[in-house]
Amino acid sequence: MEPVLLVHGGAGDIRDSRVPDKIKGVKLAAKAGYKILKNGGTALDAVEAAVRIMEDDESMNAGRGSVLNLDGEVEMDASIMEGSTLSEIGGKDVENPGEVGTVGAVAIDSKGHLAAATSTGGINGKMVGRSSDTSLIGSGTYADDEIGAVSITGHGDSIIKFYLAHAILKDIEKGSEAQEATRSILEKMTEQLKNTVGAITISKTGEVGIGFTSKRMGWAYQKADTIFFGIEHDEVRSEKVVDE
Ligand code: ASP
Repeated sequence: MEPVLLVHGGAGDIRDSRVPDKIKGVKLAAKAGYKILKNGGTALDAVEAAVRIMEDDESMNAGRGSVLNLDGEVEMDASIMEGSTLSEIGGKDVENPGEVGTVGAVAIDSKGHLAAATSTGGINGKMVGRSSDTSLIGSGTYADDEIGAVSITGHGDSIIKFYLAHAILKDIEKGSEAQEATRSILEKMTEQLKNTVGAITISKTGEVGIGFTSKRMGWAYQKADTIFFGIEHDEVRSEKVVDE
């Protein structure tokens, strides 16, 4: 199986001045996670490493760059799931102040195992103690070796109502392509609940799906020696990766 690792840096109304940092951040995380897969590492290790890199990046709304709650504190949500056992490791944590984009990663490793991880500081000015979709398996994160893996970003309360990550996988299970399932389920949520959302998906055959109904969402994935990335609608850029 040719491994693939796909990441996102959060869906939203990303300001022009933030675009270069977001692109830089997602590319860095995608390359690092892919390297783990290329060296025989597991999908679980790869998504964790990719998410950690973006949590350390202050241009992302996760880890160090997390937004603040109503009390001016940072409360973070995250979840990670392994597709072979359907087991999750998730959690809530409290740390330092910062600014904005949830981060996420999905991967398939050379043995065909899948994993997904998502991490966020939540929504700016959120209620103290709020739990987001990001900490909920099925809403913000899902991985099943029999179908695929998904990581979601966007308006958490709407995502939870749609049980979104799971909904995309159910559509793939019924026969939709990863890209089509991702796009159509996101559009359905936005149409019905009038809030924006973004997602990255990998199917069990390694097909990728990338979608967002927000203005922008940074994403990147590496396949063999090429990295593909973008942040605007219908934008797919690519570059050859030179191994340092
Ligand atoms: N889904 C996250 C939340 O509602 C925010 C985001 O993805 O930007 O907390």
